[in-house]
Amino acid sequence: MQPATPHPASEPDAESTSVWGFADSGFTLDDGGIVKFTGSRYALCGEPLPHLLPWVEQTMQVKLDPALAQPSAYPPAVDSPLLCAGFVAAIEEFLPADQRSVDPLVRLRHGHGHTQAEMHAIKHGRFGRVPDMVVYPDSESEVVALVQAAKAHGVCLIPYGGGTNVTEALRCADGEARSIVCVDLKRLRRILWVDRENRLACIEAGAVGRHLVDALQAHGFTLGHEPDSIEFSTLGGWIATHASGMKKNRYGNIEDIVMDMRVVTADGLLHRVGNSVAPRESIGFDPRRLMFGSEGSLGIITSAVVKLFPLPEVQAYGSVLFPDFSRSVRFLYELTQAGNLPASVRLVDNTQFQFSMALKPARQGWRKVRSALEKFVVTRLRGFDPQQMTAATLVFEGDAALVKAQEAQVYRLAKRHGGIKAGEENGRRGYALTYSIAYIRDFVMQHHVLAESFETSVPWSQAETLCERVKARLLLEHQQRGLPGKPFITCRISQLYDTGVCVYFYFGFYTRGVDQPSVVYADIEHAARQEILDAGGSLSHHHGIGKVRQPFLPQIFSTAALKWGDQAKQALDPNHLFACGNNP
Ligand SMILES: Cc1cc2nc3c(=O)[nH]c(=O)nc-3n(C[C@H](O)[C@H](O)[C@H](O)COP(=O)(O)OP(=O)(O)OC[C@H]3O[C@@H](n4cnc5c(N)ncnc54)[C@H](O)[C@@H]3O)c2cc1C
Repeated sequence: MQPATPHPASEPDAESTSVWGFADSGFTLDDGGIVKFTGSRYALCGEPLPHLLPWVEQTMQVKLDPALAQPSAYPPAVDSPLLCAGFVAAIEEFLPADQRSVDPLVRLRHGHGHTQAEMHAIKHGRFGRVPDMVVYPDSESEVVALVQAAKAHGVCLIPYGGGTNVTEALRCADGEARSIVCVDLKRLRRILWVDRENRLACIEAGAVGRHLVDALQAHGFTLGHEPDSIEFSTLGGWIATHASGMKKNRYGNIEDIVMDMRVVTADGLLHRVGNSVAPRESIGFDPRRLMFGSEGSLGIITSAVVKLFPLPEVQAYGSVLFPDFSRSVRFLYELTQAGNLPASVRLVDNTQFQFSMALKPARQGWRKVRSALEKFVVTRLRGFDPQQMTAATLVFEGDAALVKAQEAQVYRLAKRHGGIKAGEENGRRGYALTYSIAYIRDFVMQHHVLAESFETSVPWSQAETLCERVKARLLLEHQQRGLPGKPFITCRISQLYDTGVCVYFYFGFYTRGVDQPSVVYADIEHAARQEILDAGGSLSHHHGIGKVRQPFLPQIFSTAALKWGDQAKQALDPNHLFACGNNP
């Protein structure tokens, strides 16, 4: 069998296999110890970022000496594949050689997502079992044939989209004795049809977000689903993880956008007979709904019919500075209750606000003077405390009248809570940073800082208390372990609902001299998750359960509810053909 190799590194859109993102992009240190961002894809690229390391050092009270950087030991050793001869012979009948791979690096990449534990393990530790083979079906009928072959030969399957999950959803289940085959959907990426009149499109499940944006734009439409991982995550992955995008206020979450889907299950093809896609249906038990959050455990989604939205006539950005977190949360509450929300509203706490300032390139000439002037106005003239102030960034999308009305409402309410307009440019920059910031985790890991985000959703009445409690718990856990320096602890409100908010926490700590830092991180995150639940938060707003959050399920579901889950899996997939170990 010829191994299918990953993209060559010279290909412009090649993805890195050892760190997040495109192979040509990432934070790096130049000879003078100044941070830069490589490549040309993002706004940060090229310009020196002289404030970043000093800010991190000051905040974490440690010295990040480039000479002490820990070299990556990627790739870790990968065990020989456990192949099932009967299955391999069967699939060779219909799957060409370039659609099958047993290449160790390909198998390794398909055995993990992007949790800190996984990314730390592939570079600085040992990695457990990875899939024995990766296959790349090109059509739904090939997926059906693969499932049949797996069933006939006692092989188990794990579907793979973009590999961006942060729940260890792709990690091979402990104790699996059978051959594990990962089904990478990347070849199933076509837009099968676009129905302009009814504003629907049928899209194959392996389509990657960034490609969909371009392709639908050419038709004059947008899907409106924009998770921060949109560059690499896929339609099928979004459904399977129950994802949420930053513009959900205008376009909805994934369950609002997907109207229909086709799924290859152990029992055959799950699909709706007939051609039309009704705008809403009351049809009793709807098995398609089970696929939201199924995390690869019930079947392979091959395509979905999704809603389309006309491209917005106007897209505008905005930003507001607030004197403190409390007042900015009250602003968000009032804005939500007033309705007519901008497409996206995000609020960063003071630490994250400072962090975004530290990511500003060196200012020169007039820009430097203007920057100092702006700072003076905010901190001196308005009395904002630089150690307390927060920032909200906004995206407005729609026709000109709608955007104008939303802008007027936002700034009127912001003023009532002490907010001052901080300009369109700062808003645009805030959103542009989203994609480059995703690279920082792997950069600081080289410099002995382990950092990661985790999220929850919480009713309005408990939102602020939850933020305080989780931050305090993280600090306490850090102190009790006697870990070096100070931890990096911050939060951001990223999504708004009538009834509450989605909150992201970020926690990082200096690991030099710490035994098994990744395990320590996981323990602390576990404690923080318990604090989240105790403070009235959800187990997850959109990342899902995977393997990392399974131990908490008995705290959120009754015994009967858990039994339903187990029995559904048992009835729908009695031989555990889909054996990723999620939703057991
Ligand atoms: C930097 C970063 C930013 C992120 N931002 C967001 C965000 O804003 N919003 C958000 O919701 N999430 C976010 N995530 C998490 C992640 O991107 C989502 O969970 C995403 O939906 C995963 O899609 P994927 O295609 O990468 O799936 P994968 O990681 O490949 O798979 C995830 C799970 O879905 C299953 N699966 C994948 N494809 C299929 C299919 N076709 N049929 C059946 N099962 C399938 C897999 O078996 C696995 O269990 C982020 C992650 C990172 C690293």
